[in-house]
Amino acid sequence: MNTHAHNSWEARAEEYSLYGFTDLPSIRDRGTVVVTHGEGPYIFDTNGKKYLDSNSGLWNMVAGFDHKGLAEAAKAQYDRFPGYHAFFGRMSDQTVALSERLIDVSPWDRGKVFYTNSGSEANDTMVKMLWFMGRAEGTPHKRKILTRGNAYHGVTAVSASMTAKPYNEVFGLPLDGFIHLTCPHYWREGAEGESEAEFTQRLAAELDDVITREGADTIAGFFAEPVLGAGGVIPPPEGYFQAMQAVLRKHDIPLISDEVICGFGRTGNVWGCETYDFIPDAIISSKALTAGYFPMGAVMLGPEMTDRLQSAIDPIEEFPHGFTASGHPVGCAVALKAIDVVLEEGLLDMVRAGAGRMEAGLAEIAKHPNIGELRGIGYMWALEAVREGKVPFESELSVSERIANTCTDHGLICRPLGQSVVLCPPFTLTDGQMDEMFEKLDGALRQVFSDIA
Ligand SMILES: *Cc1c(COP(=O)(O)O)cnc(C)c1O
Repeated sequence: MNTHAHNSWEARAEEYSLYGFTDLPSIRDRGTVVVTHGEGPYIFDTNGKKYLDSNSGLWNMVAGFDHKGLAEAAKAQYDRFPGYHAFFGRMSDQTVALSERLIDVSPWDRGKVFYTNSGSEANDTMVKMLWFMGRAEGTPHKRKILTRGNAYHGVTAVSASMTAKPYNEVFGLPLDGFIHLTCPHYWREGAEGESEAEFTQRLAAELDDVITREGADTIAGFFAEPVLGAGGVIPPPEGYFQAMQAVLRKHDIPLISDEVICGFGRTGNVWGCETYDFIPDAIISSKALTAGYFPMGAVMLGPEMTDRLQSAIDPIEEFPHGFTASGHPVGCAVALKAIDVVLEEGLLDMVRAGAGRMEAGLAEIAKHPNIGELRGIGYMWALEAVREGKVPFESELSVSERIANTCTDHGLICRPLGQSVVLCPPFTLTDGQMDEMFEKLDGALRQVFSDIA
C-alpha cells in the first residue's frame, strides 16, 4: 500500500477524483503523482520531485510547460475579450484570424474551419457533417465509417466507436456501422514471407473488398491517423496512403486525416499527410494546435468538402451544430501564437534537427534482446518489449507498466501502451535533456528486463 498521509494532496486526490485510463493497482501500490508546476520539459510534484516528461503531457505540450509567449497571448486576450461563442452570425476577431491562418497552412488553396473543444468532438463533428451531407444529397444510408485496428480517434460515443481498441467493449461499443480494418503494422501484421509492399497491397485489397461487400453507397468516410499514435506509434507501410486513396477515389469515399497528434510538427512537417505525401479531403486537428495551452479542436474542410457542406446547408439555411465554447477567443489567440511558435520561432526546425539524434539514441537502446521493434518518425517513437523475437511477455507481468513505473522512480515520465513504451517529447528538448531521457530509459529497461528474465 502507498503511504500518503491522510491530509496530503495525494490522499485527497484519491478520495475525491476519478482517474481515467489509469492502472488502479499501480495507484493502490504507489500512490498518485500530484503535479504543481513545470519548467521546460520538466514537471514537479507536491514533494518537489522533478520528472522529465518525455510524453509532452499527452503529446500536446510541444513548447514545454513554461512558454512565456503562449501564457502572455492568453493573458492579453483575457484582458481584451475573455470569452465568446460562434453562433447566430457572431464570432470573435481571433476566431476569424485563426481560420484564415489554418487554411493558409493547410494543404489546400481554400477551405473552411469549424471549432470544438477537443479532438473527440472534432471527429464527432466530422461524422455529423458526413451524415448531414449524405441526407441532403439523397443518400441517407451513406453513414458507415471506416477506421483501422488500434486507431485512436477519441472517447465520445461516436469517436470511441471509431477508436478500434478492445477496451471499448465494456461500454457496448462500437455503435453499429463503424467498421475496423486491419491495423497497418507490418512488423506485427505482415504475413510470413510477405514484403512491405505486398502487405500494403493486401490492405488496399481488403479496403476494396469491404467497400464492395458493404456497398460503396453506404459508406460515409474513411478516417486515418498518418501515424497511429495511441495505437502504439505505428507509421504506415511503404506506399500505404497512395494505395488506400486510390481505392477510396474509385468508390468516391472521402479520406479524413486525423492529425490530432501529427499536426503541427510531430512528424517533422506541419502535417502528417505532408510527411506521407497525400492530400486528404479534411483534417482533424487538436493537441499541438494550442501547444496544449487551451483545450481546442478543429475540423478543417478542403475545397470539395466545403462545397458539399455548403450545398447541404443551402436548403435549410443553417448547420445546426456547435459548442458553447466553439472558437473561444482565448483559445484562438493561443492557437495563433502556438502556430507562430512552431512554424516561425523554430520549434519545427528543432524537430527536424533532432529527429536523427533521437532515432540513433533509441536505436542504441533497442539493441537489447528484449526490445523487438523500434518504430517512429520525427519526435514520436515506441520501443516494443518482447520475450524474444516477436513473442510478447506474459501479460500478467505487466511489462510496460513496470517499465513506466521504474522510469517514474528515476524521474522520467514515459507511457506504457500494450507492451510498448512511448516517447514523444516536447520539441524544445535540448541535447542534454535528450541524453538524460536516453540514460534514464536505458537504466529502467535494463533493471526491469533483468528482474523478469
Ligand atoms: C488524442 C486524440 C484524439 C482525441 O482528442 P481529445 O482531445 O482527447 O478528445 C483524437 N484523435 C487522435 C489521433 C488523438 O491522438
